[in-house]
Amino acid sequence: MKFAQASSLLLLAGLANSCLLPEERAGGSIRKSLNRRQGNSGKAVGKGDRFNGGSSFPRGLGSGNATDMSTILNVNEVATGLQGLVNEYGITTFATPYKTYEGRTITGAKIGGTGSCNTKYHIYLNGGIHARERGSHDSVLYFISDLLYAQKHGTGLTYGKKTYSNADVLKALSTGIVVTPLINPDGVNYDQTTNSCWRKNRNPKSSNSRDPQSVGIDLNRNFDFAWDLKKWAPSVSSDVASANPSSEVFHGTAAFSEPETQSMKYILDTYTKVRWFIDLHSYAGDVLYSWGSDTDQSTQPYKNFLNSTYDSVRGITSDSTTTRYGEYISSQDLNNVRTAGDRFGAAMSTAAGRKYTVMQSAYLYPTSGASDDYAFSRHIADPTKNKVYSYTVEFGFGNSQASCPFYPTVAQYTSNLQETNAGFIEFLLAAADIGLE
Ligand SMILES: [Zn+2]
Repeated sequence: MKFAQASSLLLLAGLANSCLLPEERAGGSIRKSLNRRQGNSGKAVGKGDRFNGGSSFPRGLGSGNATDMSTILNVNEVATGLQGLVNEYGITTFATPYKTYEGRTITGAKIGGTGSCNTKYHIYLNGGIHARERGSHDSVLYFISDLLYAQKHGTGLTYGKKTYSNADVLKALSTGIVVTPLINPDGVNYDQTTNSCWRKNRNPKSSNSRDPQSVGIDLNRNFDFAWDLKKWAPSVSSDVASANPSSEVFHGTAAFSEPETQSMKYILDTYTKVRWFIDLHSYAGDVLYSWGSDTDQSTQPYKNFLNSTYDSVRGITSDSTTTRYGEYISSQDLNNVRTAGDRFGAAMSTAAGRKYTVMQSAYLYPTSGASDDYAFSRHIADPTKNKVYSYTVEFGFGNSQASCPFYPTVAQYTSNLQETNAGFIEFLLAAADIGLE
């Protein structure tokens, strides 16, 4: 298949399949043709350090775009950008206790809140879990940069056609926000230096020397939520994740086998009052809310991911939720996640004029071991844990001209940033309105 045909197929299928491309489920033929194509890699990745080790600080689009955004942020610039924010605004950053396979530190930051105590942080934003989804860590870093600038200077923020007042900024910050802009630095470094459309991390533990694609784990299938493929209907179990290391959705050797996913669990365990969580991906133009395992239902609490009675039918979204299986979520929780999700999607759609869809995760495709389901499942698996309303946000609509459709054009990068950042602030305002405790 010629690339032009493959790319249009990818673009069409991508609308329904987002960060999981059709070839990742069907085999590898399209992926191989993709990888052979040379040339257009979309907007370039930065080579140096635009923050000079932290002596200058990032400023996003919303506060006037003082940062040179001619290139995408490289891995080192996430660290130096955060250091710049420490120097300029006195924020607190931290390293998670788990080093990546290649020895990198995963750095987080916390901003806003109504006190320094860990229980004052109610929001968790994560970026960069899938390496090739370029613009994810940029979105998170520039967003907190904008909030901090607007707070210090008493201004509002404007993203395309969406404008927020200084009062909105202060209200958004009052929610208390923990971020890990780049959770998969090994994968992103590899993708940025090879333009290989890389999705997973770089842990070679399960790989074999004959297949370079067998390196790495799909981190977004490695969380402890129905991780065991025996929890799934046989007809879907090969789609929800894979035990084959060569697969793009290889789920690892055990739930939480990877330092990156351990780091995200550490944050939820440490900031015990986080109520709202977003994992930022591209591309599908979707805001996805719980559940991602099967169709939501609010009448039969015993039908849930803990109940092994339903292992043989879990993940079939076309069956009846009352006679077969649907994942339980209370009507109040469903109303809350939809309400905030709708506001998120509406702000994204207004910012740059591209239409985002808000829907349940499972309608994109059912998944095992995903971060959003894990975060929301914690309070059900262990009632001592806080309830975390959770989302997978798929920004952007793909680049049909690039060797990898996840690599944005110059114009797409800007639209994507406007959309994610407008969506983030609207989401924080919605969270504050609905409730943080
Ligand atoms: Zn993704």
